[in-house]
Amino acid sequence: MTSKATTWRATVLTLFPDMFPGPLGVSLAGKALASGLWVLEARDIRDSATDRHRSVDDTPAGGGPGMVLRADVLAAAIDAADAAPGGPKDRPRDRPGDRPRLLMSPRGRPLTQSRVTELAAGSGPLIVCGRFEGVDQRVIEARGLEEVSIGDYVLSGGEIAAMALIDACVRLLPGVMGKQASGAEESFSEGLLEYPQYTRPQEFEGRPIPEILTSGDHARVAAWRRAESEALTRARRPDLWAIKSGQNRPKNTTDG
Ligand code: SAM
Repeated sequence: MTSKATTWRATVLTLFPDMFPGPLGVSLAGKALASGLWVLEARDIRDSATDRHRSVDDTPAGGGPGMVLRADVLAAAIDAADAAPGGPKDRPRDRPGDRPRLLMSPRGRPLTQSRVTELAAGSGPLIVCGRFEGVDQRVIEARGLEEVSIGDYVLSGGEIAAMALIDACVRLLPGVMGKQASGAEESFSEGLLEYPQYTRPQEFEGRPIPEILTSGDHARVAAWRRAESEALTRARRPDLWAIKSGQNRPKNTTDG
């Protein structure tokens, strides 16, 4: 288990460091960044190029369209990030392999709230953002990169995917969300989607707030929310519902 004595830090390797912090510089994540609750380091992969054109890509072996990020350049960028001082001066350097090394990739394992929770509990990941047709397979293997997808669609680069992952982690860091409880009841926290939310006005275009929510009866409100969560999950995410209802099923105690 990683010590929480160090500040959570995301190191992003990208061809477009100017894209950062971007949306991570505003609102909840931005305020937390400004107040030092987490650290963001965007490093330019191109700084590890060795030729005078600073090339980072080449044509795919075996032919085909597009370009591929070179293994040697990307490996050098990862090694340089590992060797760099980590954030605040008093922070010990990361040892290679100390923290998760992620590669944003449409063919990766889909990102889940439970993986986000694990990443937020550690010292923070190193994240490689792919471009072009992707990255040379050998660097994935040689540097132990964990491929992570944010959905079954193809973005033009890993930066927006990395931002989504970082945002999901940062809001779970201690002190970032105003009310810690708000994380506990959200979608996916218990394998269910969140119940519908309402606020004033009491009536909007002829639609009142469900009476239970204004009854002041906390037990009934909790039961209503639970039932709504379950109904929504069953209707919209049968995959999640199958897991949840499997967990709730009593275990067969007559085995053997
Ligand atoms: N040729 C690749 C394929 O078919 O799997 C797609 C490459 S994509 C144009 C360029 C980069 O965008 C990828 O290397 C990856 O870093 C990022 N990317 C695209 N879609 C993504 C997704 N759904 N999740 C995470 N990263 C993604």
